[in-house]
Amino acid sequence: MFIPYSRPALDDAEINEVVETLKSGWLTTGPKVAQFENDFKHYVNCEYALAVNSATSGLHLALEAIGVGPGDKVITTVHTFTATAEVIRYLGAEPIFVDIEGDSFNIDVSAIEKALENNQNVKAIMPVHYAGQAANMTDIIKLAKRYNVRIVEDAAHALPTTHNGQLVGALSDVTVFSFYANKTITTGEGGMITTNDPELAARMKIMRLHGINRDAFDRFTSTKPSWHYEIVAPGFKYNMMDMCAALGIHQLKKAKRFQEERASIAERYNLAFSELPVTTPFIVNKSDIHAWHIYVLQLHLDELMIGRDEFIAKMAECGVGASVHYIPLHRMPYWKENFNLTDKMFPKSSLISDCIVSLPNFQSMTDDEVSKVIDVVSSLLVENKK
Ligand SMILES: *Cc1c(COP(=O)(O)O)cnc(C)c1O
Repeated sequence: MFIPYSRPALDDAEINEVVETLKSGWLTTGPKVAQFENDFKHYVNCEYALAVNSATSGLHLALEAIGVGPGDKVITTVHTFTATAEVIRYLGAEPIFVDIEGDSFNIDVSAIEKALENNQNVKAIMPVHYAGQAANMTDIIKLAKRYNVRIVEDAAHALPTTHNGQLVGALSDVTVFSFYANKTITTGEGGMITTNDPELAARMKIMRLHGINRDAFDRFTSTKPSWHYEIVAPGFKYNMMDMCAALGIHQLKKAKRFQEERASIAERYNLAFSELPVTTPFIVNKSDIHAWHIYVLQLHLDELMIGRDEFIAKMAECGVGASVHYIPLHRMPYWKENFNLTDKMFPKSSLISDCIVSLPNFQSMTDDEVSKVIDVVSSLLVENKK
């Protein structure tokens, strides 16, 4: 049996809720979305939670709401998925890419500071909570205040994650979570925006659905006639469906249990690999919650006879899936060519990018599956040691 890199954990609660939704006749944004948003708001303890059809949509809405446009700049990390940066381009603004910390792989605060000193028209900073470990939000928030820029957190990996004991989701201006199929909880496709700012929330709510000044649910439940609405902007079509929220309502209840399951897999991996030619994940603060969305091993290539790509190919031959997070953006043709990015500009990201491997660590993994991953990875490391 092949162990995939990731597999969603859905059971009868989710399935029954989706069936009930289908039978209710209300498929798109309606009561289930309203419930999911309300549950989420209480979960992260923020004022507003807005469900969207992806985190990418959410990040786009967040930047639009804070007024990012042509001529503006937004600071972010190269060591992320392209969605983080592409939304900056949607709005005609320019990304300013910075390097990561060599240990946590989170955005380097001193590099952010340099970018703020050297650039005019910076509107926002977009940290990514890499792998599910919080970026250094305390210092990022200080910098944002000092330079009068906003913060939009890419929390696609970070449910649940804490920074100094506080859950990611209410730390800064706007936070965006992803519920893509392989994320810490899933709605198939989906995302959630959280904020405490009423003006940003109002703008994102309007832009989420065509620039209509009342959402579809209100439209069909309020006392005003349902055909009555106003268009106040050329908005987007980024609303979440009730069928997806039906999954999210139950997934959210399990978010902490899922995190504990992933954390215990990570613990087994850390122990098993401690004597082998690899570096296990660096923990910034042991008392914080790490979502463990991704478990990343760094291969000590100088001690091995094979490279990372071959290592992953051999893992697959032995029946274990793996992945890489990420091929950094400065090595992607679009970003590299249009923004003149080189390896030299991002030494830390470049250095680790050739030796990182993400192992399976999803919540529905059995103990036997974890053991098999450990056996396969350990044997490969021993067999290929110089
Ligand atoms: C998955 C992911 C996204 C995009 O999420 P979608 O819900 O698929 O749009 C954005 N940023 C990071 C870091 C991600 O891992």
